Parts: sequence; structure tokens; C-alpha cells
Amino acid sequence: MQPSVSTRAAKPLTLSEATRERNAWIETGLEAAVANLQVLRRQFGPGVEIIAVVKANAYGHGVAGIAPALQAAGADRFAVAWLEEALALRELGITRPIIVLSHTYPGDAVRAVEHDITLTVHSMELGCALSAAAAAAGKTAMVHVKVDTGLHRFGVPPEEAVALAESLRSLPGIAVEGLSTHMANADEADDEFSGIQAERFAAVAERLPWVRFRHTANSATAMRRGGLRYEGVRLGLSLHGVLPPNTPGPALTPVLSLKARLARVADVAPGEGVSYGLTWRAGRRSRVGLVPVGYADGWKRSLSNRGTVLVGGQRVPVVGRVAMDHFLADVTEVPGAAEGTEVTLIGEQGNERIAADEIAAAAETISWDVLASLGTRLPRLFHRNGIVEGIA
Ligand SMILES: *Cc1c(COP(=O)(O)O)cnc(C)c1O
Repeated sequence: MQPSVSTRAAKPLTLSEATRERNAWIETGLEAAVANLQVLRRQFGPGVEIIAVVKANAYGHGVAGIAPALQAAGADRFAVAWLEEALALRELGITRPIIVLSHTYPGDAVRAVEHDITLTVHSMELGCALSAAAAAAGKTAMVHVKVDTGLHRFGVPPEEAVALAESLRSLPGIAVEGLSTHMANADEADDEFSGIQAERFAAVAERLPWVRFRHTANSATAMRRGGLRYEGVRLGLSLHGVLPPNTPGPALTPVLSLKARLARVADVAPGEGVSYGLTWRAGRRSRVGLVPVGYADGWKRSLSNRGTVLVGGQRVPVVGRVAMDHFLADVTEVPGAAEGTEVTLIGEQGNERIAADEIAAAAETISWDVLASLGTRLPRLFHRNGIVEGIA
């Protein structure tokens, strides 16, 4: 299930060599990810561990390139949503601690212990299964307890968290290493509720002074509420170079570009319509370029007739509906546009830049969604300063 990084070519290829005859692809800049890690580490200081959140294929960037690069650059820990993602990280050679943030069934305890994965334990059933698996393997299973302080998503309520942590502590082979929570309004304009959640969390933490690793902050909380960094911060979006809304932060470098080459350029007579439903009609003699990216690749159908892409260093409008494998752009104003001309959907071209946030706004969603939706059909080209190190 996990794409592996292809072996290096005999001669390192540049991005332009590696993409000469590709329809559509993602460029993932590993030096940018490493730079972001360093900037964020400086910002949060030496006492705060960086937990690199690389769930959902590293926010669509390609975990096969991102995770090893962040580990080599000193990320302290990793976090993902599911056990399967954690096991894939071990396959990629990640040896740092890995936290599973979401739900795990007791039947997965043996595999978790075998690969030293830190689970978020929400029940004694899971705790007992882990304890048995740890005893059988002669290991100690590290676990974290998540307090549901008001998001009402995953975790246990404050009044149960203390008892659960104490009971887990009494099990052989279990070490309750961590205590966590997650904020509901971290990146809302008004994040006052984070203060209330923080108080609820602090009350639990105070009763469990022996739990040494507390973490409550995603990117937005880590930047907006310095008091909530505790021993570690869970950074996803920011490590990938994008700031959450309403969040002042350091200058970060976007890691991902989404690019394609026009598959066709065609004339459209005035009055003719294009793409399904013929929802856009040419008001003049037009030329439309076929961009070989569609909603199957995560380019949302809500972007139909919305937003722009970069062709020939210019912004050109998306016209007509987004289909599964294609959409169209009006390239009438780009005289040189032809089959094979490069198109930037996210990223830079000439003096123009399209950020993930801009696409998110056009699609009426959030940048997390735009990035994490990018499909596996798109090859990820991992590069440092334009030299390709691997493709997944
Ligand atoms: C995804 C996730 C994060 C990372 O959030 P960002 O806003 O991307 O930094 C942190 N904690 C939990 C529990 C998450 O699910």
C-alpha cells in the first residue's frame, strides 16, 4: 500500500529532465521541509519536542520522501492517525517514536507492540491487549491518554482520564508516557475556547504528575498559545510550509507544487461551450488548454469555473466543469501555449505564485483538505534544490 521511493537514477535528474514527458505531477521540496523544521524548532525553543504529523501521506506531499527527510533533520517524534500509517513509517526506516493519534482496536495490539508504536489508549480493553502483547514480547508498550476537553471527537472525558491513566499504569508491560488533548477552535478568529480546554487539561495533568510527556498543540495552538506547548507540539500544516488561518507565525516555505503539462490546446468558436454541461461558453474566438488533472486527483469539482492556473507565467482562468481526469483553462491570452506547455496549479511560475490557501478559498474549503486530497495517481518527485532524489 505504501509507495516506495524508486532507486536513484544512475545520474541524478533535474526536475525539468524528470518531468519532460509527464502529464501531471507533484514536486515535493525536501530542503523546504527541513528549513521549516529548523525555523519552527527555533521558534519553540529547545525544551519543546517537535512531533512531525505526517498522516494522510504527509498531507499529500508523499510520506516516503517527507518522513525520512524530517527524521534526518532531527524531528523528535512522528504522529499519524492510524496504526497502518505508523507501520508504513517503520517500513520507511523511521526509528523515532511514532504516536497513533486516533483509534486502534485491541486486535492490533500485537502489531503495535512488535513495531514499538505508541498508541493513544482509550479503554482498558485495549490496555489489557497491549499489556498481554508486551508481556509475550518481553517489551514495555508506551501509551498516551487523550483527554477530550471539549472537541468531543476522540479521547476520554476529563473525569475518566485520571482513572484510566491510573489503571493503565497498574498493568504490567505498560508505561503511560503521554497525556494529550486537541483544540476545537485553534485556528478560529476567536480561539477563547482553547483557554477553557487548556484549564480542563491542566486539571487532569495536575492529578497525573507522573505522566512526563504532555502535548496539546497543533500548528495554530503552538503559535498562538505559547503556554500550551508543554513538552511537545504536533506540527502538521506548518512543517509542510503553510500557516493555518488566523495564525501569525514565522516565514515558512511551501513544500509542495502541483504541476501539469497541457495535453491539448484547441480553438473554440464564439458561442460554443466546453466540458460537461457546457457551463462555460466562449464569448470570443478562444483557445482552451486541457489540463490533465481532475477530481480523481483531488482537484475538487467545486473548482469548476473557479480560480486560475499559471501558464506562460500568467494567471489564466479555469473554464467549465472539473472532470475526473481533466479540466480546461482559457489560454487565449498565452500565444505560445501548446501541447506540453507547463501549467502550475499550486506553486510558482515566473513572478506568480498560487498558494494552497488560494485554492482552498476558491473551492470553499481549507488548505488541509486541498493538500491531503491530492491523489495517489500523481507521482511525487522528491527533490532538493531541483535535483530529484526519489519518486513515489
Ligand atoms: C492532524 C492533527 C494535528 C496536526 O495539525 P496541524 O494543524 O496540521 O498542525 C495535530 N493533532 C492532531 C490530533 C491531529 O489530528
